[in-house]
Amino acid sequence: MYPNWLMKRAQLTGERVGLSWASEEWTFAELDVIARDLAGRLVRLGVQRDSRVALLSKSHPDFVFMMHACLHLGCEMVMLNERLTEQELIYQVQDCEADTVLTDDANAERLNTVNKLLFSTIKEAVPAEVEIQREWPVDRVVSIMYTSGTTGFPKGVKQTAENHFSSAIASSLNIGLGARDSWLCMVPLFHISGFSILMRSLIYGAEVRLYPKFDAANASDELIQGNVTHMSVVGVTLARILDELDNRQMAVSPNFRVMLAGGGPVAVSHIERAAAHGINVLQTYGMTETASQTTTLSPEDAADRPGSAGKPLFLYDVKIGAEDEILIKGPHVTAGYIGRFADVQPTEDGYLKTGDIGRIDAEGFLYVLDRRSDLIVSGGENIYPAEIENVLTGHPAVLEAGVCGIRDGKWGEVPAAFVVADTISAEELDAYCRERLASYKVPKRYSFVRELPRNASNKLLRRELKTWN
Ligand code: ATP
Ligand code: MG
Repeated sequence: MYPNWLMKRAQLTGERVGLSWASEEWTFAELDVIARDLAGRLVRLGVQRDSRVALLSKSHPDFVFMMHACLHLGCEMVMLNERLTEQELIYQVQDCEADTVLTDDANAERLNTVNKLLFSTIKEAVPAEVEIQREWPVDRVVSIMYTSGTTGFPKGVKQTAENHFSSAIASSLNIGLGARDSWLCMVPLFHISGFSILMRSLIYGAEVRLYPKFDAANASDELIQGNVTHMSVVGVTLARILDELDNRQMAVSPNFRVMLAGGGPVAVSHIERAAAHGINVLQTYGMTETASQTTTLSPEDAADRPGSAGKPLFLYDVKIGAEDEILIKGPHVTAGYIGRFADVQPTEDGYLKTGDIGRIDAEGFLYVLDRRSDLIVSGGENIYPAEIENVLTGHPAVLEAGVCGIRDGKWGEVPAAFVVADTISAEELDAYCRERLASYKVPKRYSFVRELPRNASNKLLRRELKTWN
């Protein structure tokens, strides 16, 4: 059993700020009061304790309050992705079979379900008497989050209290904790990158500095002013912050300690530029099934190991299995999926089968090479599309590149490239690749396109590219 995290936090350090948004802030004690009140209103409107509740909202304090209310009621929270298309949203709402869907008023029109409750309706309800869940079983499902759907249908992943707790602890053993930590959250709360900030805040007693969305100017202000100590980014948002800081020529405050970068590999040049600004970038490898990071790479290790995702955190084990698949073990690994994928067992002998291909070097550093499903086998040689994409995007004229396998009579499969670029010819790209890649990896075809197919998480959909051939 765990104690109820918000209640415990309010008892221990109730006077500390738990959430801030522009010029407003709420202490943990205030958050607890708001959550209890909302829990009573939800019950009045028919939300059952321990039921499954889906939430759809923009990043906003109201969203955080609703989540805390649901946690107080012992509900399982399905985190719906606001950026989904209507069809994807319908799929997830049906797949998760939630008893109730809570939505902010801005998204209200997007959902046509009968069991929908608007935030404004909830706030107007008269609170009922309700008993707060004081203790949480370790295997209590706290959240259900859909994977990005990069390789197929998004899978609804169960994330338990133990998953989130061990993730927060393992991360703190790596990064350390300070009494006045504040985590800048410009990543979506419905995604594990943002949700894990909220969980860490309760477990550490740290502030979440929330913004509606990513904004390079606001991020730079925060870093320079020294209000925040941590921030989560992905490669592209890091690059935009660095551009902004270059323009301003102002120093990042020494209060700022760690930039956690996830979602994919970060270019070494970004790490170096960040270091010049005094920003410590920790690169991470994580997935929805592991409640955020499994491995991280510190800046001092990054220079000698470009492309590595680092070593597993203290509580976790990573090994390479059959066909070079990355396998992960630890208390942060999901118990399984819901809905359409409920019968899929994600682990084998205690190890999560990630579907990613990787290698581990002699010192134990992990390299994530690519997705198993995107591997191109050409004349018996394995080709990783990510390696070719990295070379292509290294060309100054290339903005984005996507590579997939196409059928070939002689080799079985060969790589084909799709490129978003300023004026450049296929011949020039071919010459550029020949200098940097073994000949069997050089794309056999270059197609110039306006944009690449991406999902709501902005990840490249190579399975769509295949249909473009
Ligand atoms: P789906 O499972 O539906 O196909 P997805 O795997 O993209 O979608 P997420 O859980 O959001 O859904 O993403 C996790 C994946 O992101 C990892 O399995 C890996 O392929 C990729 N990834 C994350 N971090 C890194 C990294 N540092 N380097 C390379 N790839 C990474
Ligand atoms: Mg996945």
